Amino acid sequence: MTYVKFGPAGRPVDYKGNANMACSYIRSIGLDAYEYQATYGVKISEKSALELKEDSKKSDVMVSMHAPYYVNLSSNKDDVVERSIQRLVQAASASEWMGAYRTVFHPGFYTTYTHEEAMERCKKSITLIQEELESQGVKDYNLAPETTGKKSQLGSLDEVIEICRSFDHVEPTVDFAHVHARNNGCIKERDDYSRIFQKLEDELGLKTLHSHFTSIEYTDKGERKHHTLMEEDYGPPLEPLMEVVAENGWNITLICETPLRDRDALVMKGIYEGISGEDKTL
Ligand SMILES: [Zn+2]
Repeated sequence: MTYVKFGPAGRPVDYKGNANMACSYIRSIGLDAYEYQATYGVKISEKSALELKEDSKKSDVMVSMHAPYYVNLSSNKDDVVERSIQRLVQAASASEWMGAYRTVFHPGFYTTYTHEEAMERCKKSITLIQEELESQGVKDYNLAPETTGKKSQLGSLDEVIEICRSFDHVEPTVDFAHVHARNNGCIKERDDYSRIFQKLEDELGLKTLHSHFTSIEYTDKGERKHHTLMEEDYGPPLEPLMEVVAENGWNITLICETPLRDRDALVMKGIYEGISGEDKTL
């Protein structure tokens, strides 16, 4: 049985309770994925994380974690790299507590390096993260480098694939809006999405994907701002993605990163159901 899951990036808009009970709420509104945001640092205690895990199991909601934004594994400053490594070690360790199946992170910036040099620096950092996790006895983790939205950031689709190919316990996060924004609006139709899936299958042998979606505004430097799905001036187009997902038989988790995260995740799910004929009423 393959699955297609939808959920918000972070706390649902109208949810006022604790993160550790967010999954029950997410299930109650008809969604089945949750990306916990450790955007400004991993602050959750082990106890709360374990409660979150229990609640997610009870409500059958797929949990992932977004690691802190202040991560730059390819920085030209050694102290920045060192702090980034520590943040990701903490994030992966807390992910294990909460049963998050992915720890999503932005690999870094090119800074003064060529793309190849930045890649080497990033890989060296991931090696150190894995050594540290191993020495702490953290086994159940999956680091998930995300395709990034700015042209100054390490994280093209090819670069994310190369990082994933180089390590165990590392799988891609494809942010379709970021791919679109860093390539001057390259996603226009079904084939543009199909090619992304085909590439992941050919180069990484995947049939399971963790992904992000939002409407996005961009400039010639790449990503500028996330918008809601209602704002029709912005791409990438949602329907062709839902068509591809409805037909390609992948296991896919779609995390909605618009300002209306859970409400727009329901819009995405509605369009998916309309196309696939699948009733995801939970
Ligand atoms: Zn994203």
